[in-house]
Amino acid sequence: MTLDAVVASVLDRITPEIGQGRVADYIPALARVDPSKIGIAVATLDGGLHTAGDAHEAFSIQSVSKVFTLALALGKVGSDLWQRVGREPSGSAFNSIVQLERESGIPRNPFINAGAIVVSDILLAGGRPKETTAEILSFLRRLADDDTVAIDAEVAASEAETGYRNLSLANFMKAFGTIDGPVADTLDVYFHQCALSLSCAQLARAGLFLANRGVDPVTRQRVVAEYRARRINALMMTCGHYDASGDFAFRVGLPGKSGVGGGILAIAPGRAAVAVWSPGLNDSGNSHAGTIALEELARETGWSVF
Ligand code: GLU
Repeated sequence: MTLDAVVASVLDRITPEIGQGRVADYIPALARVDPSKIGIAVATLDGGLHTAGDAHEAFSIQSVSKVFTLALALGKVGSDLWQRVGREPSGSAFNSIVQLERESGIPRNPFINAGAIVVSDILLAGGRPKETTAEILSFLRRLADDDTVAIDAEVAASEAETGYRNLSLANFMKAFGTIDGPVADTLDVYFHQCALSLSCAQLARAGLFLANRGVDPVTRQRVVAEYRARRINALMMTCGHYDASGDFAFRVGLPGKSGVGGGILAIAPGRAAVAVWSPGLNDSGNSHAGTIALEELARETGWSVF
């Protein structure tokens, strides 16, 4: 079967699942998203793009952005980053505060909220939030090879208005000395990165360097060192789906990162980057239909790191 036929058949297979699960409503601007949306995009190393459904419609990538900010921060501070963030699955909810207390304010990994807030703080590095946000946006535009990639200001504002938990996490870590910058500045960066708006086609394209040992296979530019690409993939596999990361590895067998906007980026090393979007979330906060789509796609293509 061609990849176009595979994505078309995956879309057919998951159509009955669309609309199941719950759209994230703790961020008011996300609650307004149409739950019937579904998009699939597969970007291959030769520059090919195979899409189905609403693959060209932009959505809020939310925590999928954490993969890109981690890549950017590792490029800046290198392995020093690991003095402030761990590399273990958390086994708790993405916004949990309990573990932080027990573990002296060092978040378990860069993909839970606390860890990603520390990564935002590392990128901020005492600078101005607007400039750091612009740097993150231009990184995403370069990776997606598309200058139309944008940040949804309404989503960012909505998160800032209702982000009491994130504010607690950041203040808590500030008390432990894990956060350097003013909490408000660090969170400003974090909320804006979460509000990045990309289509599945753009997201798959942006993730392609992770499927190609850290080099963008189309522009041939190196984005991260090869060993870093491998490590980011390892973290996506072990920590990319909140406390359901083990289940995702079991069902899909590919490194993946999900977001509460209903998007998931999955990496098939040496082959492709895949992005899916369906806003209805399962109980663990991961896209219900999106996860099934990736499970089907992995089965049809035989792509798995195992
Ligand atoms: N901006 C969201 C939050 O901080 C991201 C959550 C997610 O996608 O996991 O709550």
